[in-house]
Amino acid sequence: MDNLETVEILLFEDNPGDTGLIEFMLEESTDFFYELKNVETLNEGLKLLKYHSFDVILLDLGLPDSDGIETFIEVNRKCHEAPIIILTGLTDEKTGINAVKRGAQDYLVKGQVESKLLERSIKYSIERKKAEEKIQIFANIVESSDDAIITKSFDGTIMSWNNGAERIYGYSADEITGKSISILESDIFKGETKRLIEKIKEGERIRHYETLRLRKDNSLINVSITLSPVFDTSGELVAISTIARDITERKRAEEELKLANMYNRSLIEASLDPLVTIGPDGKINDVNYSTESITGHTRDELIGTDFSDYFTEPEKAREVYQQVFQDEKVFNYALEIKHRKGYVTPVLYNASVYRDESEEVIGVFAAARDITERKQAEEKLKEIIEELERSNYELQQFAYITSHDLQEPLRTIASYTQLIERRYRNKLDDDADEFIDFIVEAAVRMKNMIQGLLYYSRVGTKGGELKSTNTEELLGIVLYNLNAAIKENNVTVTHDKLPVVVADESQLIQLFQNLISNAIKFKKDDECPIIHISAYKGKNEYIFSVADNGIGIEPQYFNRIFEVFKRLHTSVEYEGTGIGLSISKRIIERHGGKMWVESESGNGSTFYFTIPLNQLDLKLKT
Ligand code: ADP
Repeated sequence: MDNLETVEILLFEDNPGDTGLIEFMLEESTDFFYELKNVETLNEGLKLLKYHSFDVILLDLGLPDSDGIETFIEVNRKCHEAPIIILTGLTDEKTGINAVKRGAQDYLVKGQVESKLLERSIKYSIERKKAEEKIQIFANIVESSDDAIITKSFDGTIMSWNNGAERIYGYSADEITGKSISILESDIFKGETKRLIEKIKEGERIRHYETLRLRKDNSLINVSITLSPVFDTSGELVAISTIARDITERKRAEEELKLANMYNRSLIEASLDPLVTIGPDGKINDVNYSTESITGHTRDELIGTDFSDYFTEPEKAREVYQQVFQDEKVFNYALEIKHRKGYVTPVLYNASVYRDESEEVIGVFAAARDITERKQAEEKLKEIIEELERSNYELQQFAYITSHDLQEPLRTIASYTQLIERRYRNKLDDDADEFIDFIVEAAVRMKNMIQGLLYYSRVGTKGGELKSTNTEELLGIVLYNLNAAIKENNVTVTHDKLPVVVADESQLIQLFQNLISNAIKFKKDDECPIIHISAYKGKNEYIFSVADNGIGIEPQYFNRIFEVFKRLHTSVEYEGTGIGLSISKRIIERHGGKMWVESESGNGSTFYFTIPLNQLDLKLKT
């Protein structure tokens, strides 16, 4: 209590003589000023306490409206803050003691009080009340703490046990106080509490010590324990306090994190692609197993070294690394990884920056894909294509040479059979005339086939140059060429506006001629042919179509009719060699386009072909 403070005192006293005496004694006080309020009855005092607080209450237990310990009980119930000092008569000391037991700060016997004693009692009561309040606050803190706060003696006997301890371990204070702390030890930690106590005795501090404890229900709980020595006022070590925190949740989260990390790590290790993280300084931070095997270096050798050392072109590797920082990502960047023993692995790199929680870029994550096999496959494919081109060329040469050379003897056969026909018809018997007809027919047919084959073999190699070609004009030429057949068969030919394309003009004439003459040839018996030619512009190509109202084709023959000498009819039904569509398709393929048919048996056919728009696509196909 600060000196010379003003102390507000409420005095319950119905005897004016005693009141005067107390006032007199208080005036003599050298330590404080006072303000005294005197009430003569309990009721009056209680009313006053409702709206006014005092520093101390002097209470005479014998009042007109209340007597004995009841007086104290009533006042104490109404007022917790102020310390209460009991004033008793000489004969009533027992009641005073009783009141002190129930929370009064002191009792004074009227008639034996003198001013120093009163002054000391008031001061002492106020201080003690304050100290009690502080203790109460600490006690409340201890009780409301989520942590277990326990005191135990050196032999491990539990002396105090808060609510937190009850929550964590399941024992109430009543059932565990006085028992040994070892009750909380699980079998695997037997003797641990004793060892910890020994350490404290030796002056060691134990902070955040993580262990397992046994709860009342026999379950185990993860706790973090801090042990501290407790000293008495003389500085002597008297007990040990334990604060235990339930860390089950934290342990579970840690366990989960550990599992997640293990899972991620397994994924990384399982990857067949070499994975690397590189710091901003270009040094390797982490690698997976694949990286070890592709470089021939162990993880320890790799970590901390410059990543670019492991490439055949370190400069290029550094460039791509810079590029990742600039663009955040890099896709399919081709590099070659060096193995310690000298092998080289071609890879495609995908890399991106990675960041910390504050979004700060802290490095580059790079994944390489071994493309050795792909490269080998590409190489193989290239070889096959070259081989194919070569054999294709040889085949064409062969077809060309044979068909060319066959023409010569064939011409001789044809000429001489025609000579025989002219000279000896009707001069031999009927059979002979018929035989001669067969030979002539077969010779002509063979001639046509060989010519067709010759043309076919020359589409790729002996074609003309590709140049701007007006297909509408070109159609005019074709219709002119086919004029006789058109007239004879009463054919109606219509067409849309046709485009200018880049093409080999004479081959396109051949193509249109084949398609239109087929459309006439494969007409229905009872209908005049109607043919319509159109073209529309697609995204990358023109799509032409030649539609007729002829006999149509069954779907299973849609591919077959484009093969060499493949026909769906005998030459008696419809004359022809079966090479026209093969030539047409080859012409279109040479122009970089495609050809197909759509038809329904008995319902006409539409032949489609495409010619690319882009001249660059028009590489000559051989
Ligand atoms: P050819 O006309 O000499 O028989 P092609 O190669 O031109 O040979 O045609 C192959 C076969 O495709 C023909 O024999 C015929 O059966 C069928 N074909 C072609 N064009 C048509 C068409 N417009 N309508 C019906 N069938 C057709």
